[in-house]
Amino acid sequence: MADVKKQVILMKGIGVSSGITIGKAYLMDRGAIEPAQFCYLDVRETDNEIERFKNALKASREQLLRIKKKMEQDGKGKEHIRIIDAHLMILKDNMLINDTINVIKKERVNAEWALKTVLKDLMEYFDKIDDAYIKERSMDIEHIVNRVLINLMGRKHESISDIKSPAIVIAHDLAPTDTAQMTKGMVLGFLTDVGGRTSHTAIMARSLEIPAVVGLETITRKAEMGDTIIVDGTTGTVIINPSESVIEVYKRRRERYENYGRALFHYKDLPCETTDGKRIKLMGNMEIVEEIDSLIEHGAEGIGLYRTEFLYLNRKDLPNEEEHVKAYRQIVKKMAPNPVIIRTLDIGGDKFLSHVDMAKEINPAMGLRAIRFCLKNSDIFKTQLRGILRASANGKVKIMFPMISGMEELRRAKAHLEEAKAELKAEGKHFDPNMEVGVMIEVPSAAIIADLIVKEVNFISIGTNDLLQYSLAIDRVNEHVAYLYEPYHPAVLRIIKTVADAANKAGVSVGVCGEMAGEPEYAFLLLGFGLDQLSMNAFSILRVKRLIRSVSYSEARKICKAITGLATAKEVENYINLKLPGLYKEEFWS
Ligand code: PEP
Ligand code: MG
Repeated sequence: MADVKKQVILMKGIGVSSGITIGKAYLMDRGAIEPAQFCYLDVRETDNEIERFKNALKASREQLLRIKKKMEQDGKGKEHIRIIDAHLMILKDNMLINDTINVIKKERVNAEWALKTVLKDLMEYFDKIDDAYIKERSMDIEHIVNRVLINLMGRKHESISDIKSPAIVIAHDLAPTDTAQMTKGMVLGFLTDVGGRTSHTAIMARSLEIPAVVGLETITRKAEMGDTIIVDGTTGTVIINPSESVIEVYKRRRERYENYGRALFHYKDLPCETTDGKRIKLMGNMEIVEEIDSLIEHGAEGIGLYRTEFLYLNRKDLPNEEEHVKAYRQIVKKMAPNPVIIRTLDIGGDKFLSHVDMAKEINPAMGLRAIRFCLKNSDIFKTQLRGILRASANGKVKIMFPMISGMEELRRAKAHLEEAKAELKAEGKHFDPNMEVGVMIEVPSAAIIADLIVKEVNFISIGTNDLLQYSLAIDRVNEHVAYLYEPYHPAVLRIIKTVADAANKAGVSVGVCGEMAGEPEYAFLLLGFGLDQLSMNAFSILRVKRLIRSVSYSEARKICKAITGLATAKEVENYINLKLPGLYKEEFWS
């Protein structure tokens, strides 16, 4: 058959991880599993539909049995296998099967629709029961129903680790659990319908240096499996089925971008100081242990943010104390003599543990997230605190609490830490009794009382991702409001200034570990506002160092003073664009 020339499609999304990549599309089922449209059946079709439903049940059962067998062969523990057994039991559940068949028969609707209807009723029933165990079972039912739905729709159940040849992953949505499984050689880039610049999926892409564009809205409908795709993660441009000449243009751009990255290594061993001698500490953000070598290679002077929640993801149980100690020690030893700031569990928001009882919340970003979750689940919290403390015996560890919104929360978190210290002391286990304690300033209420907070901590670090989310009221994973993510917003600048002034007045170290720190033009402002530590992904370290080495601190302070009177983000941006190029020239690669 002659080759059909495919239509060229140009799309624009939010470029969240720089770089250019060209490859074949690999479409994945992720995010909302929407059943095929509602279908009203002819009475003669219902028997066929019931048969189709039964076949999907059978296929699901066979898949689960295969997974169980593989787990047994791999020597996976009983607990893991019990989960599969529980799912197999649900598949036999009469209520689920009979009710679905009844809906197909009585309402004459397609099996997908009938199954979704039954699931909805079941979930409403479970929601009314206030029992953690039962609630956990309801999540199992949801998982298994999704499996049956995927089989009904003839789709494939897949995990990122199934990808066997290099490809560009395309999905409606990807969870941080997915991105954590990505390997650089196999996933050339990824594209999603939804998402924003500071979603954890985007942050992971930058850490892994995988070009990515999110918020494309309809990429899953426009691209087909195997299509050739160009991804420009810097500009957010995506081209489906490009012509040969366009591919050539992008290959040249890719080469320029790679040369630019290599040239930056010139700055690796140079001190990070302004032309008038102000020293700024550049640290690394990390999610998974594998990132540490790249951070060291790019000259990180320590870890400014270790997002420990990734230790808890992609597994069916919780890490025990020894696992915590092992993971932290490894990092601390590699980083020595530089410090490692370990942030306690920040679960919730856009990161969930499937095996922990986390009630479904209407607004998870404002729900039982981070320190709130830990204070409610003190066993989980205590295990981590003990792990962090024990690792502090092996190097310079600092602990940091996320999402602190007031003094009481801070004091309660510190009381748990003291309790963990007392326990370890009684058990004769070693730890650094003077381990520094810090908090993230990412909730506006904490920013406003930063002058009080700094009296009770050793350091603070501004989490600009959440600070912007909460102060500008923009969901960080929602592509529809992504345009409101404005680090130059006068409110944001004023908050940062308030926090920095409070810390500097008290002589407490103040840093930024949100994504703003890794963008040279924003880093310039942070310098001018008096921040002394910036923490970011590996690639950004040398770009930001290059900026800091080309500007003067006194100039940055003057510019910051001038912009505090401006009324809009646009005015601030224009002012910076006017002043900054004279001080520093960023190279272009696109
Ligand atoms: C932040 O909110 O800026 C931050 C660094 O934490 P996270 O992105 O993990 O929420
Ligand atoms: Mg945060």
